[in-house]
Amino acid sequence: MFGSKGIIFQRRAIGCNVDMIECTSCRNELSIKEVSYRCPVCGGVFDYAEPFKYEASSINSKMPGVWRYRDSFGLPTEVEPISLGEGNSPLVWDDVNGKQVAFKLDYLNPTGSYKDRGTTVLISYLAWQGVKSAIEDSSGNAGASFAAYTSRAGMHGKVFVPAYASGPKRAQIEAYGGELVPVPGPRSKAADAVEQDAENGAVYASHVYQPFVLAGYATAAYEMVEQLGDAPGSVIAPVGQGSFLLGMARGFEALHNANQISRVPQLVGVQSKACAPLWSLATNGENALEGIEEGETVAEGIRIRHPIRADAVLKAVQSSNGFMAAVDEQDIIPARDELASRGFYVEPTSAVVWPILPKNMNELKDPIVIVLTGSGLKYMSS
Ligand SMILES: [Zn+2]
Repeated sequence: MFGSKGIIFQRRAIGCNVDMIECTSCRNELSIKEVSYRCPVCGGVFDYAEPFKYEASSINSKMPGVWRYRDSFGLPTEVEPISLGEGNSPLVWDDVNGKQVAFKLDYLNPTGSYKDRGTTVLISYLAWQGVKSAIEDSSGNAGASFAAYTSRAGMHGKVFVPAYASGPKRAQIEAYGGELVPVPGPRSKAADAVEQDAENGAVYASHVYQPFVLAGYATAAYEMVEQLGDAPGSVIAPVGQGSFLLGMARGFEALHNANQISRVPQLVGVQSKACAPLWSLATNGENALEGIEEGETVAEGIRIRHPIRADAVLKAVQSSNGFMAAVDEQDIIPARDELASRGFYVEPTSAVVWPILPKNMNELKDPIVIVLTGSGLKYMSS
């Protein structure tokens, strides 16, 4: 077993220098050795101060999954991985309208979603800090991932969920041993409650605010390049906060800067039209944001009204010559069924990528990679 049993992983001398985070608003810098989910000076959002760095020679092939790339995480050498074997997801090809398209099966991660790539980095860091108890707000994949990794670390994990939340994801959180705190009202009330708790001193292991998850998400890009021998021509992924797409963008940027790939892929982010702030911003500019609603959608995992890294996500998409897209609600379940008929059983949130493909086959550069993010086993139709 690997993880909490006294194995010290040596960081090589040539490791990355992504060891500082800074506030994206006031540029207040914090050492990575501090625990804080938001800038204590201005309340701004933290991010890595420098681009990610990738060094092929620093990959430790003896380590499983995402921890092969630990040098790129910017964590101190002493941090021991809290791991469940995340990463290394298969890349499977299938024929779509006469063309071979690759599917990255990230729903096969330990808790059934890509979130584990980020959670393993974040929780490992917090455990090293001596954190014994942490909080999170999510009734979905992030909550399940958080509950699994905090339990694995011997940490107490408290998850604030909207009181209406039910179904397999809530059951999964409880089964891992996460403490559920139901909060009456809409989703935003759970976010308010967790921030109140954080103001009172709790450690907020937010999958949105904590920048460490981005370094974990970047590993999906590293894996794709290993699996393909070069970068994909285009990558299509569902987008709520956009953290996964942003993390992958930074991974590809690091690879390109290190001359490991010949191109940076077009990035395509897909939202549900019921709640599509990033698509609206990209299509109609700043003014469009006023009319955005948090509408009902089966794509519950990407129902995010205010993505906190919106600027960074859109910049990454635009600079890749990609685009944002949004799908109609009535197309989502049929898309889920179409993917399932090909053997890919994903939740409706993940299926939003599918309707984009046939419409844009000629525009998208080859090879096309569709990222499948969450397991269908997590979804229960009402
Ligand atoms: Zn600040």
